[in-house]
Amino acid sequence: MKNENRLVINGGKPIRDTYLPYGRQWIDEADIEAVVNVLKGDFLTTGPVISRFEQQIANYVGSKYAAAFSSGTAALHAACFAAGISEGDEVITTPMTFAASANCILYQGGKPVFADIDPFTYNIDPTAIESLITEKTKCIIPVDFTGQPADLDAIRQIADKYNLTIIEDAAHALGAVCKGRKIGSISDMTMFSFHPVKNITTGEGGVITTNNQALYEKLIQFRTHGITRDPKQLVHNHGPWYYEMHFLGYNYRMTDIQAALGLSQLRKIDGFIKKRKHLAALYDEAFRDMKEVVLPFQKQDCNSSWHLYIIRLKLDLLKESRKEIFEALQEENIGINVHYIPVYYHPFYQKLDYQKGLCPNAEKLYEEIITLPLFPLMTEADIQDVIEAVKKVITHYSAEGKA
Ligand SMILES: *Cc1c(COP(=O)(O)O)cnc(C)c1O
Repeated sequence: MKNENRLVINGGKPIRDTYLPYGRQWIDEADIEAVVNVLKGDFLTTGPVISRFEQQIANYVGSKYAAAFSSGTAALHAACFAAGISEGDEVITTPMTFAASANCILYQGGKPVFADIDPFTYNIDPTAIESLITEKTKCIIPVDFTGQPADLDAIRQIADKYNLTIIEDAAHALGAVCKGRKIGSISDMTMFSFHPVKNITTGEGGVITTNNQALYEKLIQFRTHGITRDPKQLVHNHGPWYYEMHFLGYNYRMTDIQAALGLSQLRKIDGFIKKRKHLAALYDEAFRDMKEVVLPFQKQDCNSSWHLYIIRLKLDLLKESRKEIFEALQEENIGINVHYIPVYYHPFYQKLDYQKGLCPNAEKLYEEIITLPLFPLMTEADIQDVIEAVKKVITHYSAEGKA
């Protein structure tokens, strides 16, 4: 949405004629054929493709199990159920995330407790986590923000010390690697999302990976109404048609149509990430010498999956706030974004009595960030347009030399 009252800096034409989105899917003929094949077959949902997709996801991340869901949010809800979160339990997460990372706690009657972020990595700060633990704490939900793995070793130590379950929100991080281990093989449960802006897509969809059989079985049962047909689990058994519902689950199943798209997309994930990494390096190169911006932090011992490329503005070197700079970039037809509004800023959370000031590092970061376009289908010319626009706008608003 453009602000119609604002003009392009210095007048004239915007740098781009057409709008460049901040993220988008890449669907090729093989993807289309895979979906069409399911449509021509016998099963539209819960057929053979779903288990193949789950198997391939598990193989790719190096986990024992993978359970697919209708969305990443449904997958997080199921993980909270499987972790045993119930009324009054506290769960520690980051405010610098999409609302779903905290909403899933509320679905189960739990209480989200927000721990502040590390000001350099923008990921949840393990020291802040430990300071918030009480007898009611049950779980930690770290987010691999932008695709950069959270401090998983330190979080594991805390979880072991206090007997907590880790549900890793890796919606951004399919394909990321931390100290030689793929994200998805490390935490008790890991969630990936397949929304179209994420690293691969199924339209809507999500998955939980885990190495724990008991958790896996709960996840599977939760996504289909709490129903089981497993003879070992049945309380009664009236015959071959018989099944039982053991707890209140949901219909959170992924269709075979979605799974077919996911399988086809998964074959391309490493190429997608390679392209994202290449484009991110071009941004780094172009902005390295600009004093007014801080570039994304890169951990030495981890590989990011480069879901998002976020620049942080040094507002003391700029004459205007992030809002003016954001609007000026929009005028150039650059599709930028802000990830994220701290979760507890939302009116719903404010009504639950979360106060501003809770996580100062996250609140400060929120004032200073802009997400630049980054997706594998971007051309070098697209990247050059963004670079040109950022340089134009930042130079225009720089406080340097204008004093
Ligand atoms: C996208 C996203 C989700 C939710 O995934 P959906 O598949 O859209 O439900 C959760 N957490 C984070 C950090 C996300 O980016």
